[in-house]
Parts: sequence; structure tokens; C-alpha cells
Amino acid sequence: MYELQCPACNKASQYNFLDYLLLCPFCSATFKFHAETGQKELFGDHYIVPNLLDAATIKELALEWLRRIHHKPGAVDKEFYVVDVQGFSIPLWIVSLEGHTAWKGLVRKQNRSIMSHSANDFLVETGQFRRSYRWAISARSNICETWGLTRLHEPTEPISVEWDGFPFDSTFSRGRLMAEEQRSAYEGRHYFEFKYANSLPILGIQVDENEGLRRAQNHVELYHYKLACLNADYLIDYRTELEVAGIQLIHVPIWKVGDIYRPKSLARHFYRSKEKRLIIDGYAKGVLSGELAMVYHDKVMINAYVTALAAAFFFLLGISWHPALLLVSLFALMIAGFSVFTSLKRRAAKEEEELQKLSASIGRSSSTSQIKAP
Ligand SMILES: [Zn+2]
Repeated sequence: MYELQCPACNKASQYNFLDYLLLCPFCSATFKFHAETGQKELFGDHYIVPNLLDAATIKELALEWLRRIHHKPGAVDKEFYVVDVQGFSIPLWIVSLEGHTAWKGLVRKQNRSIMSHSANDFLVETGQFRRSYRWAISARSNICETWGLTRLHEPTEPISVEWDGFPFDSTFSRGRLMAEEQRSAYEGRHYFEFKYANSLPILGIQVDENEGLRRAQNHVELYHYKLACLNADYLIDYRTELEVAGIQLIHVPIWKVGDIYRPKSLARHFYRSKEKRLIIDGYAKGVLSGELAMVYHDKVMINAYVTALAAAFFFLLGISWHPALLLVSLFALMIAGFSVFTSLKRRAAKEEEELQKLSASIGRSSSTSQIKAP
């Protein structure tokens, strides 16, 4: 920490020079400090989306979300416990850009026998598409420091996302839990002032705008490559041109919630509680990302524990009293083994399916989703 005078209000304060941009605690001015020359340079394009929520409201919103997706909505208040609520204002570089992609590829002819794979089965096709984004890049050097912020992009196309940046508007307009606030977080921004964080800690800006710009361009290029691949069976050529219209820095309020599922039934004695998390937008009350308790898997595993215990019990009886009980023990053991096997097999499939349902539901902005966990 070093003491500096603010270039806007001249008041002295302590600053962490590891941050790329410094924030005056008195007048909220944002500035760069060039250590070699001692120069200070004001940075104007810094905005903040106000935080409109507090911990108690966030807890209620998290339970509301669980009621929507849990198979027994009425049981949520009794079976889910919110154990952790934390909010912060995170810095994002928002890059406004347009990507224009032209592609050429081979497309398989329709209504042809798929048995013959001759060169005549394909047609050369070309196409182009254009999309514009306000692409968000975390300005924190460790993108994994907050759970759930590394994979916020959920495109409607069937492609796997391999980037941490995301289109700001569509991401922050999904999963709304209350319909009263329809403005997008972007439109709700103000010039940066500490007061808009409403007591949330403001995380420092650690990544410079050049890196933000480069990362956004890399992400959009990769995204457009994958979009181009969807058009052809064999993509031969493609070209993406990006036009950057501008870059700005926005602090955005994010709340992280941890919850624990504890069933009320007998199963609770065998249940191993594991914290699940969700991320809520502190401005428009949208669930940006969420983890589900694996209710089905847990129930089957509990069944396995119980039958394994029974198997051990009958085994002891069998060796001490009557050998016929060894058969009962063996039977219980088979059930236990079968439970574990089916559960593990279905777990992988379930996780995939629920994640897809979840992203589909939070993709539908502000609609009431009807997801039934099995
Ligand atoms: Zn100042």
C-alpha cells in the first residue's frame, strides 16, 4: 500500500499498486498511476450497476429458485438450508463488437442413399452471418476466485463453450425471479461511484483494457468458428472479421448463495450434505448460474447404504445362528450393489440432462419455469 493524492479531489489515501486502476475512496475517481513517471491519468469509461438487494432478499430469492426446480416445491422451505450468502461488485471489461463470418463447406445432399460415400454426395455451400455483442471479460486476474463465473455463456446453439467471457445482455437478462425490473443491467449503469454498491465490497481492477480487448476477440472468433461448423458437414474455409466499437469498465453486483439439501425423511440419517451454489444478479434478480442437489442419486445411494447394513446384519446372524440367513444377506448385498450401479450410471446422464433443462429454463427470461427433478 502506498499513499497517493487523488488527481480529481487532491485528497491523500492508501492505494494497492497491484491494481491496474485505482479508485479514490473520497470522490470515486478512477485513475491510472504510472509508477515510472509519477503521472496520474484519469480513466473516464468506468461505470457501476447498482446493487439493489440485501442478504435477506437474496436468501428468499434462492429459496424461490429452488421451489421452481425442486420436484416437491412445498418441501423446499423444510428441506433446504441457505448456509452462505456473499455479495460483491466485480469489475468486467465490456467490449462492444460486431463479428462478421463468411464460411465455405461441404454439405451432404438430402434424399440420397447414405450408404454410398462418393464425392457426389456433397454440395459446396457458402454462407455468412453477422452478430453484435457487448462481450464481458472479467477484470480479475483469477477468473476462478468466484464460483460459477467461468462458464456463464450458455448459447442456444449445440456447441461446447470453451471460454470464460460471455455476451453481457443475454446473460444478465435470464433467470429473472421477479418480473418488476425489466431494464437490463447495462441500461441501469451509472458513472462509477462507491455509493451504488450499497455496501457490497468493490473488487479491484487487475486486468488492463488491452488484455480485455484481446480476450474478447479470441472468444468471439472461437464462438463464430463453432457456429460456422454447424452449417456444414465439412467446414473447408472460414473468415471472421471483428469490428470493435468500444470498451468500457463496469462494476456489476453479484451474489453467491450456498445451500444444503437435508431431506426430512428417514433418509436424512444417511445423507451426506454437500453445499450447492448459485449466482444471482444483484440488479435485476436473475439466477445467472445454479447447481442442483442430486436428489435422485442421493436417494438411491441411501437405499444402498441401508441394504448394505442389512446385508452385514444378516451375515452376522447367518454365521452365528442359521446358515439360511446367509442367503438373505447375499440378497441384500445384491440389492445394495445394484443400487450403487444404477445410481452411478444414471447420475452422469442426469447431470447432463438437468444442466440442459436448467440452462433452457434460465434462458427463458422471466418466465416461470416448470422443471421437475425426477
Ligand atoms: Zn478523489
